[in-house]
Amino acid sequence: MKMSLAEIAKAIRVQNDIAKWQDLEVTNVAFDSRALEAGALFIPLMGEQDGHKYVANAFENGAVASLWASDHDLPSTDQPLLVVDDPLQALQELSQYYLHKINPFVVAVTGSNGKTTTKDMTASILATQMNVTKTHANFNNEIGVPITLLNMNPNTEAVVVEMGMDRPGQLDFLSKLTTPDIAVITMIGEAHIEFFGTRDKIADAKMEITHGLKEDGTLVYNGDEPLLKERAAKLKQYTKTFGRELGNDLYATSVTAAPNHVTFQVNEWPGLSFDLPMGGEYNVNNALAAIMVGKLLHVKPENMQQALAGVELTANRAEWIQGDAGEAILSDVYNSNPTAVKQVIKTLAAVKTNGRHIAVLGDMLELGDASAKLHASLAEAISHDQIDAVYLVGQEMNNLKDQLIKDGYPKEAIHSYAADQLKELTSDLKSVLTADDAILMKASHGIHLEKVLAELASAN
Ligand code: ATP
Ligand code: MG
Repeated sequence: MKMSLAEIAKAIRVQNDIAKWQDLEVTNVAFDSRALEAGALFIPLMGEQDGHKYVANAFENGAVASLWASDHDLPSTDQPLLVVDDPLQALQELSQYYLHKINPFVVAVTGSNGKTTTKDMTASILATQMNVTKTHANFNNEIGVPITLLNMNPNTEAVVVEMGMDRPGQLDFLSKLTTPDIAVITMIGEAHIEFFGTRDKIADAKMEITHGLKEDGTLVYNGDEPLLKERAAKLKQYTKTFGRELGNDLYATSVTAAPNHVTFQVNEWPGLSFDLPMGGEYNVNNALAAIMVGKLLHVKPENMQQALAGVELTANRAEWIQGDAGEAILSDVYNSNPTAVKQVIKTLAAVKTNGRHIAVLGDMLELGDASAKLHASLAEAISHDQIDAVYLVGQEMNNLKDQLIKDGYPKEAIHSYAADQLKELTSDLKSVLTADDAILMKASHGIHLEKVLAELASAN
């Protein structure tokens, strides 16, 4: 992007006189003074720290100008400071101004799981026929979304924006900020149920992504989810469904899932086979969502096929790596929630091996009152004929242990560790793993399974 300070001052109602700097131009925005590109407009945010402390540093690193909150004393400097009520709000307003100026087609993606994956797949598909900007990494909140918008090239024709939420109202805000042409809900899970209480309430909150949806816009949603179906029926805008069940507008047939590879066909184009360069059968749904968006934007099916075959995920957290004993490790150690665990256990079980299938599972944090029940519920995905042993880490996993025993899973195949026993876990695993084994490691980041992983796969 490129904007003069005069243009910015007009867009966000700057309070001080900036006439002498009005012709200066900024080419990007940044809120972290350490990771700042020359030409930036610096946005001092009030986080754990007060961003105003880093304004001087931002100028040293090449910022052209900075916002400045009116409740902070203005320092005497000749550097361009633009005084506003609230820098975060100004960032959001500026992004909205810029969005209207560029006026691309807006695709907003939310869901309990699969947002980043679907965002990446959608952007790849659209990029075969138009200029596309997408959310960088996982920048999906009230700061990340404006940054995504302000990062658009002036020639952007479509922008694919990931939107996260951990409380009611957040998607309402982000949707109204971006007024999407297409809103996508990948699925409803149990993430953040601590704050919401029930899946019904999560579904309500996800539907907020339609609050800013244009009148002639379309909601694309997972039609296998009754909670979404009920709600979508009341919507004035168009709706399209995808999913695994027949009867969805788009559904997959002939699905085959290998560890690093998923193929499927789509009802709409019989005979055309889609191929994903990643494991995880759940990715069929993410791809179907992306394909539906492509279809709505008239992307040719062959282009979609090609785009998906080469898609690179910015945050493919579940990845196979080789451990020091030669074992195959499915590493997914940075976040965890019940739906994702159940899915990824399927991926593990699907791997053909002459050795054993082992699941190392750590606590899923932030599940609130439902935590015990949700941990126990993982037992439904774990059967001894598929998963030979489980290693459980953390207090909450005791609920799973109890449930597994109740369900008849052999006690001797269950190994439990407290959260501070990662060393014991590591040496126990090292003593049993062989080159033929396949092992899954998944937990919330707070459990720090990455430390165990680093020991098991030190060559990586
Ligand atoms: P975050 O909330 O952290 O931004 P996200 O919604 O962007 O997550 P991804 O990064 O795409 O999700 O995927 C994270 C994990 O969620 C995957 O590794 C996988 O375990 C699980 N997952 C992804 N897509 C689905 C899906 N459609 N259904 C169920 N689980 C999924
Ligand atoms: Mg994400």
